[in-house]
Amino acid sequence: MSDEVTNVLSFDVEHWYSATLLRERVTDPATHVEASVERVLAILDRFDVRATFFVVGELAHERPDLVARIADAGHEVGSHGHTHRPLFELDRDEFAAELEASAVAIHDATGTWPTGFRAPNFSVTPRTAWAIEALEAAGYRYDSSVFPVKTPMYGVADAPVRPYRLDPRAPFTDSGDEADGRLVELPLAVFHPRVRLPVAGGFYARVLPTWPVKRGIRSLNARGHPATIYFHPWEFNPAVRSAAEHAPIPAHARFVSFHGIERLAAKLEALLDEFAFGTAGAVADGYADPGEVATDGTAPLRIGGER
Ligand SMILES: [Zn+2]
Repeated sequence: MSDEVTNVLSFDVEHWYSATLLRERVTDPATHVEASVERVLAILDRFDVRATFFVVGELAHERPDLVARIADAGHEVGSHGHTHRPLFELDRDEFAAELEASAVAIHDATGTWPTGFRAPNFSVTPRTAWAIEALEAAGYRYDSSVFPVKTPMYGVADAPVRPYRLDPRAPFTDSGDEADGRLVELPLAVFHPRVRLPVAGGFYARVLPTWPVKRGIRSLNARGHPATIYFHPWEFNPAVRSAAEHAPIPAHARFVSFHGIERLAAKLEALLDEFAFGTAGAVADGYADPGEVATDGTAPLRIGGER
């Protein structure tokens, strides 16, 4: 272990063909989602690491046993929206409905309300800043959707690279003011020697060698900041590449979706060997207003007016 900073390990749980580049083109009745999640759970079990799984609500509704299995293994279950539509395609009311539906599906499966949110396509940006008040109103404690680098599909160029409290009036600046909002943001990891390089996981971890990812985590940890890393369980399951073989997927989408899929488990194991990881909820607690952290392990949520 290089140091004692606990980093955030997260998995976005969705069907492999939910990715934006594929969703209009592919459906797969076999889905592979159970087998993919089992592969990840086995790795985490071997390293005795707890992670956060941000689950699509519709999937939790379809496969409650799978989501219960994740929770029973000691991992945190958060919301990844209900339909996996990016926030760019929703208005505030539709987003509030997504938050509630996904929370109910997760609660039905696990008996626990989610307290964390990850937007499909990291779609919390200045265009969708209304999401922050909607998350607060729904009782969420943290968000992990801000990608602090501009990419063709998402990202916020100058957002903080360390966890911070989201001030709804200035959501992408870290004023360092403790009076900022209640919601904690856990931005996705970037490595920024000169220009910011996204190293947080997924496509980048598959395409890049392991060293820039490790350097990125080390440089954040050296400043006392956790790195938030994400993957999709299907990225550990080469069976999805065969499932996609006969689908009408253009070459670039095939590359982005599947490149490096055979080697990702070894890369994750290398990260687990070197760094300490935990759940997003536990790391977010370290940045929360002390009054917002439940001491009895229950979520201070008011979803559906029940709390
Ligand atoms: Zn997703």
